[in-house]
This record gives sequence, structure tokens and C-alpha cells, in this order.
Amino acid sequence: MRFLHELSQLVFPTRCFGCNAIGLTICSTCRREWHPHYYLTYVSSIKVHSAIIYSPTASKILLAAKESGIRGADILIVESIIHVLSQADFSDVDVALVPIPSSSLSKRRRGRAFIIDIVDQIGQQTSLPVINALELARPVKDQSGLHSAERAKNMNGAMRVRAGVIRRADLVLIDDVVTTGATLREAARALTAAGCHVVGSVTACVAQPLR
Ligand SMILES: [Zn+2]
Repeated sequence: MRFLHELSQLVFPTRCFGCNAIGLTICSTCRREWHPHYYLTYVSSIKVHSAIIYSPTASKILLAAKESGIRGADILIVESIIHVLSQADFSDVDVALVPIPSSSLSKRRRGRAFIIDIVDQIGQQTSLPVINALELARPVKDQSGLHSAERAKNMNGAMRVRAGVIRRADLVLIDDVVTTGATLREAARALTAAGCHVVGSVTACVAQPLR
């Protein structure tokens, strides 16, 4: 097995998933750039708590997790969201985590529902309840290729609350990155319209300023 591992390292050397340098799965330079802090941003009236300023390196780390399923990148995202959950003061509320739903197209391409998977890992590590409350009511385009107005249009009315969701808890929306806020705004709208209480959002990364 060791021989096979060494052979595969020769053919497919391990590269940093932040900058592609050959070596560790994440190099020290990228690790420094992915150092969780605490940032508070507002999307309409929604409080968004985040760990990392969105940058080209952060974007590559998110893509490594999302598109390539690299476990080390998942761990960085999970850790940063847990860090922010501990910084944001949710102590006086009965928090449950709500993942932002993925499109069925991206689920098929990636082989998993990315944020739902990340939030499950966070739930296991923090013992916070996870409520998979949202689903897409219609197909949406991948937001990454769209500018701000197109993103808002793409998400407008796109989500709904799944049948049978418990409405007691104070819900915290979890996503990997907030860029324009269109997705979070739609998620909060759908939950509020269904009588749920949204107390805010926690994201790994935040674009500053929001675009
Ligand atoms: Zn690197």
C-alpha cells in the first residue's frame, strides 16, 4: 500500500488546493490567508457573520471542497463556520442550523449536496440541531457566472420551505460565501413567509464590499 501511495505521488503529486504548489495539501501561505476572524455584514436586515474575507485563494479553497470534494478543504470550511458560530452571540436563542439548498444539477455534478453535507459535519461537531428546511421551488442557474442584478432575478422566489419542517427554533442560515446576498435574502424570505424565525446567517467567506 505504501508503495502504491508513493507511486501515485509520483504520477499525481499532492498540490496545495489554494495555490496549486506541489507539497502539502494546503501550504503555509494559503493557511495564513485562510485564518478565521470575525466579520459582521448586513444583507437587508439579515445579520451575516463570517470568518474569512473572500479572495482568490479563498475562492480556490471553496472550489476544491465544492467541485473536487477535497476533504482538507471541507475541514477548513467546517472549522471556520464553527469559529464564527462561537463568536456570534446566539446564546439567548434556541439555534438550529439551516443549510442553503443546492440545485439538483450541481448535486449530480458534485455527487453530493455540498452545503447540506458541510452543515451535517458542523452539526455533528457542535451538537447544534440541523434542520434541512429549504428546497428549490424551481431550477436556478449557477450564481457564479451572473452579475448582481441577474443573481437577484435568478434567486427571486426560487426557494420554499419543505413540508413538515418544525418552526419552533431560531434559524441560522449557513452558506459557504456571501457575495451579493441574493441567495441569503431569498432563503430568509422563504422561511419568514412560512412563519419561521431567522436570526441571522453564518458564512465561511464574505466578499467585501458585497457586490
Ligand atoms: Zn498554497
